[in-house]
Amino acid sequence: MQKKILKKIMNDYIQNLIDTGKLDLVLQKNRWKFESSPYIISGPCSVESEEMIVNWAMKMKSIGVNALRGGIYKPTTFPVKTSLNGWKEGLRENGLQFLKQASNESGLPIVSEIMEINQITQSSMDCIDIIQVGARNFQNFTLLDELGKLNKPILLKRGMWGTIDEILGACERVLVGGNEKISICLRGVVGAPSYRHVFPSIRWAPDIMMIPALKELCDIPIIYDPSHSTGYRNFVPAISKAAIAAGADGLIIESHPAPEMSVSDSDQAITFETLSKILFELKK
Ligand code: PEP
Ligand code: MN
Repeated sequence: MQKKILKKIMNDYIQNLIDTGKLDLVLQKNRWKFESSPYIISGPCSVESEEMIVNWAMKMKSIGVNALRGGIYKPTTFPVKTSLNGWKEGLRENGLQFLKQASNESGLPIVSEIMEINQITQSSMDCIDIIQVGARNFQNFTLLDELGKLNKPILLKRGMWGTIDEILGACERVLVGGNEKISICLRGVVGAPSYRHVFPSIRWAPDIMMIPALKELCDIPIIYDPSHSTGYRNFVPAISKAAIAAGADGLIIESHPAPEMSVSDSDQAITFETLSKILFELKK
């Protein structure tokens, strides 16, 4: 009964968007897909050194991870606090070569964030196979318009505030530009304060229901991010499995050789052993 009501409300809502000429592009079925399902992306929040990312890439490859993640342009909430540790906002251009080396040695494609148009360069495009748009840039329309001109997969992260129509509208931006290879990355949204007095690193709330809600409307591939949904490593295995059970086409999971030492997002990174266990259980 509840599902029926939800379906009716959503269909009316979306019908209205179609009638007013919006969102028709995103609702098309049978579009571009990742080459395997579930498609697993994993690696550190930030690339920290060449040795670290090359070694980690080989470990990811050994357990069947499909693509390596690693941030080199990093948006950080408190830039002054962050730079006090001697670490600025990512290795930036220097990190590109390290990612390239990791890809060459492991054979894995690279997922990495681009924060602004002038980071779309020959060298970044030679190195990044799937361009991540960060949650904070979810509605950066000039960036999305530019990414629409490329012929490269885009992993568009949902802003923490993103409603279903805003998600579809952001996808439409890339699609109207001519880039069919759009995918949605669902991560946590605002609304987690009820956890914070007990688990201080929890900043966002997972929103698993957005997976079937989007699937009801379109065939855009959905990657779920359990790391930026929970902020707390112990919950990453459960939310990973929940997302796949709910219909996600893949996962992007932060993993690190020594999670508590990670230069960014250290509370949510998981170990190689935990990641291996998640992948093993997903295959069962
Ligand atoms: C990230 O993937 O490391 C990241 C910064 O994610 P988000 O944009 O979702 O905060
Ligand atoms: Mn991160």
